[in-house]
Amino acid sequence: MEKYDVIIVGAGAAGLTAAIYTCRKNLKTAIVSVDVGGQTNLTNHIENYPGVDAMPGPTLMQKFLDNAKSFGAELIMGKVAKVDKKGSGFTVTLAEGKTYEARTVIMCSGTVPRELGIPGEAKFLGRGLSTCATCDAPLFKNKITAVIGGGNAAVEGALELAHVGAKKVYLVHRRNEFRADEITIDKMKANKVIEVLTPFEPMEIVGDKFVSGLKMKHAETKKEQTLELQGVFKEIGHVVDIASIKHLVKTNERNEVLIDDKNQTSVPGLFAAGDLTTVPYKQTVISAGEGAKAALSCYQWLSNQKVTPIDWDIKGKK
Ligand code: NAP
Repeated sequence: MEKYDVIIVGAGAAGLTAAIYTCRKNLKTAIVSVDVGGQTNLTNHIENYPGVDAMPGPTLMQKFLDNAKSFGAELIMGKVAKVDKKGSGFTVTLAEGKTYEARTVIMCSGTVPRELGIPGEAKFLGRGLSTCATCDAPLFKNKITAVIGGGNAAVEGALELAHVGAKKVYLVHRRNEFRADEITIDKMKANKVIEVLTPFEPMEIVGDKFVSGLKMKHAETKKEQTLELQGVFKEIGHVVDIASIKHLVKTNERNEVLIDDKNQTSVPGLFAAGDLTTVPYKQTVISAGEGAKAALSCYQWLSNQKVTPIDWDIKGKK
């Protein structure tokens, strides 16, 4: 069984930053993740990360990964099915069955798309229904589309669809007030391709093999109507998926992992950082800072254990 000082679960802003810090403390570090970039990948134009010019989220995340690798982090692609205690350390088991051992674990696995819970949602996913406007918008050039949601992701998604040449973009939101930043809302309102429909609650995604409409209900008058369209984008936020550690850690009512101010969970040696924790304001810059904190706490915890770090001989890093 392969052994590490630290296994970091998740390769978004938190996980990749944590890896930079643990590697620089000479801790043998593996990052296990289903993707590289996490939620920052879903932003096509990140302009609030300090010190760098505006750029696509995936470009920024690639820079994070390059940093982490340059310090010796090892990236293992795969979904973590379970984290368990083993002696004073942990085992990390992937869905495909392989198990790794680590003295500490830093959970940075972020979130998964929230469900609308309406008919047609499962059936049409990938058949005209998307959870990522940034990723799939180019497929909807000259098509009529709707984006559901009132946060930054929805409003930016609507702008992205307009930008790539969608014929029409409805922004469907269940309230009249938006969560998105004012500057982004102003851009949306100035865009002639986008029509804002509020307050409307989505009721059903309709179609045969592919999406052909979105049935919705006015939240005040309760009047129902169906928009004829070819694409629906669900941009209603994300929820934490902590199935792999639910049996170990304490969480709040939203399933977010409880951590102290040093990113320690309720289990000694198990740390958490980023969107899966109780820390508010889910932002790339905050996740990066939290990842750094978790890594430094992890180093401090290992130092207090007075155990010699595992030898490692990753090229260029000894
Ligand atoms: P969000 O801010 O939580 O917004 C989710 C939206 O979906 C809300 O408007 C919510 O409505 C709506 N919603 C939730 N459940 C719904 C349901 N069942 N039916 C209909 N509507 C539903 O999520 P987000 O936009 O994905 O953003 C998440 C975080 O990432 C935020 O902190 C955001 O600022 C950040 N982010 C930042 C950027 C950027 O800075 N460039 C880009 C994207 C995201 P209510 O308002 O009624 O609750």
